[in-house]
Amino acid sequence: MKILVVNAGSSSLKYQLFDLEDDKNDVLASGICERIGIDGSNLHHETENGTEFNSDFEMPDHKVAVELVIDALLSPEHGVLQSLNEVEAVGHRVVHGGEEFANSVVIDEEVKDAIKACYPLAPLHNPPNIMGIEACEAAMPGKTQVAVFDTAFHQTIPDKAFMYALPYELYEKHGIRRYGFHGTSHAYVSEIAMELMDNPEAKVITCHLGNGSSIAAVNAGECIDTSMGMTPLAGVPMGTRTGDLDPAVVTYLMEHEDLSAEQVDSLMNKESGFLGVSGVSSDCRDLSAAADSGNARAELALKMFNYSCSKYIGAYSAALGGVDAIVFTAGIGENSPSLRLEILEKLSYLGVELDSELNSQKIGAYKLISTEDSRVKVYVIRTDEELKIAQETAALAE
Ligand code: AMP
Repeated sequence: MKILVVNAGSSSLKYQLFDLEDDKNDVLASGICERIGIDGSNLHHETENGTEFNSDFEMPDHKVAVELVIDALLSPEHGVLQSLNEVEAVGHRVVHGGEEFANSVVIDEEVKDAIKACYPLAPLHNPPNIMGIEACEAAMPGKTQVAVFDTAFHQTIPDKAFMYALPYELYEKHGIRRYGFHGTSHAYVSEIAMELMDNPEAKVITCHLGNGSSIAAVNAGECIDTSMGMTPLAGVPMGTRTGDLDPAVVTYLMEHEDLSAEQVDSLMNKESGFLGVSGVSSDCRDLSAAADSGNARAELALKMFNYSCSKYIGAYSAALGGVDAIVFTAGIGENSPSLRLEILEKLSYLGVELDSELNSQKIGAYKLISTEDSRVKVYVIRTDEELKIAQETAALAE
């Protein structure tokens, strides 16, 4: 079954065309439209046969971008389809589903209205997600379209964990609560971990550590807590985001640095985290290199990150009443043996024993990196959010 996966941002649109069969998940083609609505729009397209092209096109809006993607998929030189009829359905990544969506859904007008109702909660993400959906509806009328939400997997979190201790009316009026993000990734890697352990009841802590990072506590496949909050700003420190801080810091900054709400928001989302503490970079590799050459603030930023990740794992093992497996995924989680070691070395009291040899080896799709005697299994599992979106879409299309 061929499924097109679309991830639309405000000025970009990423796509992957999957061919899913029982035991194979081939990516037939993938690419990205960049600078949509801006001068110098560009389409990069590549196929599994190794052909690729990179061309400038006029892309005034997402609709034209989707039409160009379809032309590329059907083109005689770089195409992988004879006809669009071969595509069974289109799966869309949608960032915020609020409390409305605990699962992926087939898109209709009511679903689009509910996604639009979440605009105040995700003003930068949901509007371009809708643009991507409407562009595909226009270019492929009648084709099944599915929405897969970053927040959906976290909708099983109980109220004691998702509520903030603000006046209750604010939750009712504005929906102010923890939602959590990266749900598609946490769902994907926790399912693989449960399969690898052959234990559908497993208590799993999933650490999605990348430019944005979040940690989730998963009990028998159900998420019970996660580190991101109403927005993706909460939790562990990230590339440019603060992670958790005392909320009084916000009003203090507004008063004493004379900042507007918008300026504080930008400071906390774009100028903080690794970048803000180190003054070097938001990128973990740059930070590691700077720390290795003696930069104390780069070293501090990394230590703050490791410490925060260890604390969340400790907290979530308490929330779960134990832990059977810890999973590392995303850019940092998959690629940094030294950070994995530093996060886990304080957790031997939980029964975590890392095999340093396995931890330093290449991982492939997944790898067990704990010792045979370790009470808690530690896995590195490559995340694949697009594949998960394709699988969810295929299941609904069927
Ligand atoms: P992501 O958002 O999942 O693409 O992850 C991006 C982050 O992963 C960046 O901070 C990268 O520096 C980090 N990363 C990628 N490769 C490595 C590596 N080999 N060692 C440390 N961090 C890495």
